[in-house]
Amino acid sequence: MARATGPERRLLAIYTGGTIGMRSERGVLVPGQGLAAVLRRLPMFHDEDYACACQLPKDTLVLPPASPDQRVIYTVLEWQPLLDSSDMTIAEWAQIAQTIERHYEQYHGFVVIHGTDTMAFAASTLSFVLENLQKPVILTGAQVPIHALWNDGRENLLGALLMAGQYLIPEVCLFFQNQLLRGNRATKVDSRRFAAFCSPNLPPLATVGTDIIINRELVQKIRRKEPLVVHSHVERDVGVLRLYPGIPASLVRAFLQPPLKGVVLETFGSGNAPTKPELLLELRAAAGRGLLIVNCTHCLQGAVTSDYASGAALADAGLVSGFDMTSEAALAKLAYVLGRPGLSLDDRKQLLAQDLRGEMTAPATERRPSLQGSPLGRRVTQFLSLSNSQELDAVRDALLPSLACAAAHAGDLEALQALVEMGSDLGTADFNGQTPLHVAARVGHAGAVSMLLRRGVHVNACDGDGLSPLLLAVRGRHQSVIGLLRAAGACLSPQELEDAGTELCRLASRADGEGLQAWWQAGADLGQLGYDGRSPLQVAESAGNLEVVTLLQQLRGRAGATAPGPVSSHPGGAGGTPVVDAQVPGVGSMFQGLVWGRRWAICSQGTGLQGPSCGPLGQRTHCREWSS
Ligand code: ASP
Repeated sequence: MARATGPERRLLAIYTGGTIGMRSERGVLVPGQGLAAVLRRLPMFHDEDYACACQLPKDTLVLPPASPDQRVIYTVLEWQPLLDSSDMTIAEWAQIAQTIERHYEQYHGFVVIHGTDTMAFAASTLSFVLENLQKPVILTGAQVPIHALWNDGRENLLGALLMAGQYLIPEVCLFFQNQLLRGNRATKVDSRRFAAFCSPNLPPLATVGTDIIINRELVQKIRRKEPLVVHSHVERDVGVLRLYPGIPASLVRAFLQPPLKGVVLETFGSGNAPTKPELLLELRAAAGRGLLIVNCTHCLQGAVTSDYASGAALADAGLVSGFDMTSEAALAKLAYVLGRPGLSLDDRKQLLAQDLRGEMTAPATERRPSLQGSPLGRRVTQFLSLSNSQELDAVRDALLPSLACAAAHAGDLEALQALVEMGSDLGTADFNGQTPLHVAARVGHAGAVSMLLRRGVHVNACDGDGLSPLLLAVRGRHQSVIGLLRAAGACLSPQELEDAGTELCRLASRADGEGLQAWWQAGADLGQLGYDGRSPLQVAESAGNLEVVTLLQQLRGRAGATAPGPVSSHPGGAGGTPVVDAQVPGVGSMFQGLVWGRRWAICSQGTGLQGPSCGPLGQRTHCREWSS
């Protein structure tokens, strides 16, 4: 996974309906047309000057610059008819997949604007239907319409557009409340709160806060550069049956009748069901006549295991374990597997039991592979040290950097030493552009860091995102690692130093002394101004963070940084600072877009201060910052 490059990133936003664009009609919410026109009026979603200069068509919008050299341009395609997602079915999702296929070459990525009620089903279905995906497809929506005063739609849609426009995440994902989740791992868990979705068995692929943290290890890799395949023939006769204590066998029998071809059976705990013979008989009979039944747990978290006799009996009756799949993913997978032509029942069962699109953690991969002591590690080690032929050398060269990063992540010095003996110089970057030093610094393994430094690895190497090991250690507040890196001559890159002012102000506003100390230790100038022209000291003073004021004075005294002018003579906030305020008529009068250098902030507010030192919600200010 790398950052997307190129001056213009083009996205297709497919608007299918859902609360995000809904309007009230006779007291109830119904899908609303004209989302592109609403977005056009909001400066955070559209830069009219740029659009005019480029003569973009009416349905095409352009985001304000998120970085100096890149623009996200997006075209909104409005679905006919717009739907409450409760009315969506596999048929509509297959059509969305076909729309993506038709426009695949034209765009860098896709955003699907969808109702939240069935968004997890939609994301799961799309993940299976779209094979060999090499571009991001991100679903998003809202709990409150985008034109309401206080809503989650703006943040969610903007986040989805930015993630799809700026990162090469070749997966179907779901973006909601600052989290990018794998689509087929997500489930809706709340009908009111803005945090409507969770991914119970897989951490988010990315989290957006002051920084955008991408969980690279989790993001699917493009394995083969093969063309996109859209499996739009999906089986619709699939269903979900939730077991409950005392469920009659007759009811189960009635449910499992043709034309049903596949069922997700939601069972108790770790995949258990009542053991009464009549019930097991029905399940066995259905599986025997070719009905595919996947066993998924009721529980939000955890997996189906064979720990209990009451669970083992289901496997014995011919059910396939769904491990830790959500029911939504299991249903979509059934529809996909049953829709594939020319497969035998056993082939289909085998596909169901395999991880196809990152939808489940099959038992063999449940534990994180570690070089130390694991059979995998031993076998790889043996294989690598025995290799002689040219081909094996090439395999070894490709594997060693990743293995070294894995060892650095685990802080496993023995494994690192073993890799040196196999010929690794421990300084080579892996496929993501990160060296073992980046990994060890990010995780905070001082032992691994000093070993790598002793071996003379490049202390100021940049990873795929242009970040230095020192910055990663600063973000993790790993003081001993920062000390080791500094002693070895590490310094923050010019870009990192340039960005430091705003970050320091943010830490000062949050009274984060530990974070400030980490930056100071890394050599940042604590007197550096944030994007609104104020110093961290001024921010801390105006926020009343006295401990931080004292700390800053002490640290700056020690560092000898130049003090900025007195607070009163230094205009803060928007006054006299290079912030572009864009007043929006109508709805947007409550909305102001800020653009400054490589960072920008969204504020939804009445009046007052914009920037990293925004006050609490009680002052009607609420900010999110993004670093590009
Ligand atoms: N009923 C709406 C839908 O799913 C709910 C939402 O979008 O939040 O379309």
